Amino acid sequence: MEQLKIQRDFFRTHRTKDVGFRKKALRRLQQEIIAREDAICDAIYADFKKPRFETLAAETQFVLADLKHTLKKMASWARPEKVGSSWMNWPSSDYIYKEPYGNVLIIAPWNYPFQLAIAPLIGALAAGNTAVIKPSEVTPHTAAIVSEIIKAAFKPEYVTVVEGGVETSQRVLAEKWDYIFFTGSTRVGQIVYESAAKHLTPVTLELGGKNPTIVDGTAAIATAAKRIAWGKFLNAGQTCIATDYVLVDSSVKQKLVEELKKSITDFYGENIENSPDYARTVSEKHYSGLKDMLKGEEILFGGNTNDSDNYLSPTLVNEPKLGSKLMEGEIFGPILPIISYENEADIDRHIAKYGKPLATYVFSNRKSFQKKIIDTYSFGGGAINDTVIQITNKRLPFGGVGASGIGAYHGRTSFDLFSHQKSIIKKANWLDIPLRYPPYTMPLKFVKKVKHLF
Ligand code: NAD
Repeated sequence: MEQLKIQRDFFRTHRTKDVGFRKKALRRLQQEIIAREDAICDAIYADFKKPRFETLAAETQFVLADLKHTLKKMASWARPEKVGSSWMNWPSSDYIYKEPYGNVLIIAPWNYPFQLAIAPLIGALAAGNTAVIKPSEVTPHTAAIVSEIIKAAFKPEYVTVVEGGVETSQRVLAEKWDYIFFTGSTRVGQIVYESAAKHLTPVTLELGGKNPTIVDGTAAIATAAKRIAWGKFLNAGQTCIATDYVLVDSSVKQKLVEELKKSITDFYGENIENSPDYARTVSEKHYSGLKDMLKGEEILFGGNTNDSDNYLSPTLVNEPKLGSKLMEGEIFGPILPIISYENEADIDRHIAKYGKPLATYVFSNRKSFQKKIIDTYSFGGGAINDTVIQITNKRLPFGGVGASGIGAYHGRTSFDLFSHQKSIIKKANWLDIPLRYPPYTMPLKFVKKVKHLF
């Protein structure tokens, strides 16, 4: 693949290892994004009518904040980190050097098509790598503007975009990369992992999952409903960390449902189809998949559709069966199953059915219950008494576990993710304690105490 070959040659010039070079690169990226912020909003709107507010907040400003923070901190992140040395090696100074992996491949999905292509790029470049980005073919307008920005900011030997679908993705995956950063479904994540294994390429896999939100009998129901509905119907339910299904204490279920209906109407009005604040399902394929999931289900609210632009209104479904289509895998659309529970065993029965999710949320005023959920279940990250917001703190690593992914990024974690940590001990020559050299003369009873010197 020509693009990778020229990037390999460029990486070997060592120019990307200069922190000044990296900073200039990130500043160029920053300028090109700022210059096109409106065009980015237009592109994502053309792809699936994402409201401008959501594009600004969750895509462009999100990425610009990460750029600003990275530009401020990257010189200190890049510096070799001095660590304490061990008596064993005395006299020495010990360091962790941050070394770029080399040539990075970034494969992005369509749901936050700008953010998820550019946020990993920031970490990759800050750490001194080159990058090829493969944006999603499902959002072609965004792919085009990502391509335009990258062309304006960088030479292809440093960063480039390869547009295309599954075949293109598989073609680039067949190459030998130094690091692959993939965001997308668990199914494709497995394909990526297999391709990477052939070359022993390290990967980050940012995948999906079936995220539960648990609402207990002590929760502040009106606030809970507002925060669940916001996180769920943002981007028309196409957010990897949105609630997938709600498990609610049966004593407060009715109240929660009423408050969810109220919140949805407060957010989008009576005529949601005409709301400028509600996006569309991204493609006909995804849209018909969602409609299929609704077949045979009891709809408590919504369920309205318009085939002409893949419109599916915010929809609440009552008590879907565990074996139903809706509860088979990740929904990834504006359908919210409401499932009541009587006791904690019911909660466990649901959560244990799926792989480790990317997020879990708990609405409760009981600290012991909050703690129990955090301690009992494994999941990427989450929030207590809110949803989705864990992504907004750059100091928190963002990533999945088990079926929801491998690795985490954002802020400093991105820099570390794209850096190999090279351990170096710098030894002094003025002293050379002979005890380690053969013939071994140290009495064995002293060797048994050596652990104190490590
Ligand atoms: P997807 O897995 O279908 O596609 C992602 C990328 O992989 C695209 O660029 C696509 O071209 C490529 N691809 C698709 N099929 C492929 C194949 N067979 N071989 C090689 N490459 C292939 O995912 P999507 O539909 O674009 O995105 C939705 C999924 O992404 C959801 O599961 C969601 O939860 C997940 N997601 C996760 C995060 C996260 O940060 N963890 C963020 C957003 C989305």
